[in-house]
Amino acid sequence: MIIGILGLQGDFDAHKKMVEHLGAKTLLVKTSEDLDAADGLIIPGGESTTMTRLLFRYNLVGAIKRFHRKGKPIFGTCAGMIVLSKKILNHPEQFRFGFIDIAVARNAYGRQIDSFEEDIAIPSLGKEPFRAVFIRAPKIESVLSKKVESLAKRGKEHIMARQGSVLVCSFHPELTHDTRVHEYFLKMAQNFR
Ligand code: GLN
Repeated sequence: MIIGILGLQGDFDAHKKMVEHLGAKTLLVKTSEDLDAADGLIIPGGESTTMTRLLFRYNLVGAIKRFHRKGKPIFGTCAGMIVLSKKILNHPEQFRFGFIDIAVARNAYGRQIDSFEEDIAIPSLGKEPFRAVFIRAPKIESVLSKKVESLAKRGKEHIMARQGSVLVCSFHPELTHDTRVHEYFLKMAQNFR
């Protein structure tokens, strides 16, 4: 199994290390040919506007749409979640793929807590809490359809969700030593094969 990690911008290297630590092969995706070889795709955190600009420049938008149409799993963290969402409430003109029926707001956790860490419960990953790292994180403001399954909440807000082959979280699981979120995604990719 080969997990593609979008390697245009952002913290793709931390994802790469974590996936390799779990024993799967990785491939930094920079062209549509790279993507053809992958069984799953991770879109990392970073800066969603810059990442989008590069997605167009590297001709990856159509390729990622085809990848999704085939049902191959895609996992977006933070900026990656923004790019996969249906709506970006505070930047309605910004490009997004719309693969998951959620409305997000960028940088929505307020200036004084722009970045923070917190233990959260992710019931489908077991009893042990998960240390979630939020960095200028987007908020899932609302879920737009019943197709979306919420996997974790922080207070009233959803922070991890799935719609079919698409997994998103507003935090950065690649920046901890806890591999459970990545294991969950690898299982999605394994089941697709
Ligand atoms: N603030 C970034 C954005 O809006 C996301 C931050 C991140 O990915 N850590 O694109």
